[in-house]
Amino acid sequence: MEDRTDTEPVLLSKHAKNLLRFLNLLPARMASHDNTRSTIVFFAVCGLDVLNSLHLVPPQLRQDIIDWIYGGLVVPRDNEKNCGGFMGCRAMVPKTEDAEILECMRNYQWGHLAMTYTSLAVLVTLGDDLSRLDRKSIVDGVAAVQKPEGSFSACIDGSEDDMRFVYCAATICYMLDYWGDVNKETMFQFITRSLRYDYGFSQELEGEAHGGTTFCALAALHLSGQLHRLDATTVERMKRWLIFRQMDGFQGRPNKPVDTCYSFWIGASLCILNGFELTDYARNREFILSTQDKLIGGFAKWPQATPDPFHTYLGLCGLAFTGEPGLSPVNPSLNMSMAAYAHLQHLHEQWRSADGRGDEDISVSSAFKQQLHLSKGVEATSTTTTSNSPLISAQ
Ligand SMILES: [Zn+2]
Repeated sequence: MEDRTDTEPVLLSKHAKNLLRFLNLLPARMASHDNTRSTIVFFAVCGLDVLNSLHLVPPQLRQDIIDWIYGGLVVPRDNEKNCGGFMGCRAMVPKTEDAEILECMRNYQWGHLAMTYTSLAVLVTLGDDLSRLDRKSIVDGVAAVQKPEGSFSACIDGSEDDMRFVYCAATICYMLDYWGDVNKETMFQFITRSLRYDYGFSQELEGEAHGGTTFCALAALHLSGQLHRLDATTVERMKRWLIFRQMDGFQGRPNKPVDTCYSFWIGASLCILNGFELTDYARNREFILSTQDKLIGGFAKWPQATPDPFHTYLGLCGLAFTGEPGLSPVNPSLNMSMAAYAHLQHLHEQWRSADGRGDEDISVSSAFKQQLHLSKGVEATSTTTTSNSPLISAQ
């Protein structure tokens, strides 16, 4: 039977216009998200990048965004605890010259792993050279929130600790090309202990396997160069759990409704494991397009629901994995475009050259480099886990 939506267009320009709007104005209904505003900037900027539409961001706005991101950077002083990283909003940065107030507010400023990850991703995507960062203080902040069992808290002054922040920790260290005192071994142990009987990963030990968590676990293993430590049988069973999450779109757990964002969480997980080609691209696309808002652009969680930046960005990434025309290839582990990833690789090369470091520690980077070459139509020449990713062959 002919797929009715197969020829339905992805409304690229409407999605770009929708995301651009969030860079200029946060609607009142999203006011409660103000304390995580950098994540909204991340969805909008990275979404525009995947849409090949970053040129729509005027140069002054682009610079304003970069400056705003840096305005949330916390660099600890010598006598302070390791609280380096980025904050998600500027509520704790008062616009005053009053030294007493500034000193008082200092007690409430600390980096948050999710905000640090999204802030770095925005800077990289906008082409910043990260030269204003003290990379060590940020990674010291990451190491300071690692738990003895290998998990990570979001920030130094009390928060949840689970697989989401394991992922954020891995992305931060990978992007800064520095792992410092982060314990990769206990991180690996925490991740593998969270593998459940059905071969999905749970948010924390003894929890239920979940699609978003499984992405966090696999991407963290990939970015930390530890994916190869999973044996082949385990990987095949993980693929099975992931593939069985497809109904038309993807669900996050068995017996749950499908949701646009899982086209990314599950899709990216399968890309990392080299199994995305086993999914039904047409039905995935059909579901994602059923959540497309034809009037104002954007994708929603479900059909007829209100679109939001989160589902818009992840819906676009899910479509990018299937090779949708007009969309840029997406790096599944870092959750950013391959163009942004290429810029990051360039920065790494510069840092390594300045540090006098060789290429001995770039195994993960090499795998990604190969994906980049493949995306340009160059044949695969290696058999490493990610080298012949279906992500690229599909595009
Ligand atoms: Zn969702």
